[in-house]
Amino acid sequence: MLAAMDFDDSPAEAAFRAEVRTWLDENAEPRVEADVRLSPMASFGDQAEAIAAARVWQARLAEARWTGVHWPAEHGGRGASLAEALVLAEEIRRYDVPGGVFGIGIAMIGPTLIAHGTPEQQARYLGPLLRGEEIWCQLWSEPDAGSDLANLRSRAVRDGDEFVLDGQKVWTSGAHYARFGLGIFRTDPDVPKHKGISCFVVDLAAPGVTIRPLRQINGEAHFNEVYFDSARIPAANLVGELHDGWRVARTTLMNERFAAGTMDSSGFAFAALARLARAAERDADPVVRQALARLHSIGRVTDLTNARVRSAIANDGIPGAEGSILKLALADLGTAVADAGVAMLGPGGLLTGAGAPDAGRWSEAAMGAFAMHIGGGTDAIQRNIIGERVLGLPREPSTDRNVPFRTLPS
Ligand SMILES: Cc1cc2nc3c(=O)[nH]c(=O)nc-3n(C[C@H](O)[C@H](O)[C@H](O)COP(=O)(O)OP(=O)(O)OC[C@H]3O[C@@H](n4cnc5c(N)ncnc54)[C@H](O)[C@@H]3O)c2cc1C
Repeated sequence: MLAAMDFDDSPAEAAFRAEVRTWLDENAEPRVEADVRLSPMASFGDQAEAIAAARVWQARLAEARWTGVHWPAEHGGRGASLAEALVLAEEIRRYDVPGGVFGIGIAMIGPTLIAHGTPEQQARYLGPLLRGEEIWCQLWSEPDAGSDLANLRSRAVRDGDEFVLDGQKVWTSGAHYARFGLGIFRTDPDVPKHKGISCFVVDLAAPGVTIRPLRQINGEAHFNEVYFDSARIPAANLVGELHDGWRVARTTLMNERFAAGTMDSSGFAFAALARLARAAERDADPVVRQALARLHSIGRVTDLTNARVRSAIANDGIPGAEGSILKLALADLGTAVADAGVAMLGPGGLLTGAGAPDAGRWSEAAMGAFAMHIGGGTDAIQRNIIGERVLGLPREPSTDRNVPFRTLPS
């Protein structure tokens, strides 16, 4: 069932929005469309300067308590509703401030530690995360475990007061500048695959951890391969119960679905496209006009889906299939807008760098658009969710849920 839509702020949300806006007006400059990088990967680059600027901004947000607002007050938040947290994300997007590198920590890792961490873990990690002192990453995917995450093979074996980690993670966003990772590892291969997994805080500076950045087609490195070669972590780094890591991971994934509701509905990219049509004197071309009208309409419908996700969050806390529909729609829209920009510029649209037409924003957008179709659950996985939860189709058959993990072919 999809939730009913409610477009308006509640009185509490309106008051919250006004307060956020006042603070942002005093502390940041509005975003200028012409300067915005259009790739969804842009805010996650690995330039030292950008990361340093993000740390400074995060510290300012924390000081004013405008970060992690939906965390409970005792952990540094404001105990705000999830709907208010969405209002904050929406407002911040309108300002020219560094974003990205703290997103995983604030939206996903913090809430997981709050739900499952020990008081000692909460006291040690949450403050530095909020204040921008320590960046976190999420050590989930492996070469053989992505959509089927519970197939993971990296293992953690208890040895006295420590666990010894071996194996490999991949596509780990930000590991090369993160201090810690929240990781899931196999601790019991003799039970079915979802049951023998445990979750740990992983110190990325520990001996035996090797981080290799993966360089993308645009030259930047967003994610990494992370290797564990008898890396030791204290047993006190276990988050939740031993072998119960799938439950912990589900909390993180649920919060990832909430984070999906904070995604940009590509408004800036469309504004950039319309501006490009005028600048290139293509705005009278009927083919270009038709493409713009089509993308504008799809953008508006996507905005409505975004409103639907917000309503679901306001009513139930976590979006259901609406989140999958929004993710799918945003990925398609992002690709279509980027492709239209490249097409409008002709061959020059494929160039990158400051000297390229429109500063190379369109080729970068087109290259980055693939990420949205894969990260946070692929298009096919979103379609499976919609098939099962909206269309009522039968669940995907699975033959490996109730047999010991050790017996599964690899
Ligand atoms: C930008 C980005 C950032 C990421 N950041 C992180 C991170 O920080 N930490 C982390 O752990 N991971 C991260 N990932 C990894 C991401 O979660 C996985 O890439 C994703 O879940 C898909 O897994 P996979 O790459 O193993 O592909 P696979 O699961 O192997 O999928 C391959 C293909 O098969 C299709 N497929 C798979 N299963 C099904 C099915 N049941 N039904 C129909 N089709 C199916 C998929 O749609 C896809 O087309 C990131 C990925 C991207 C792109």
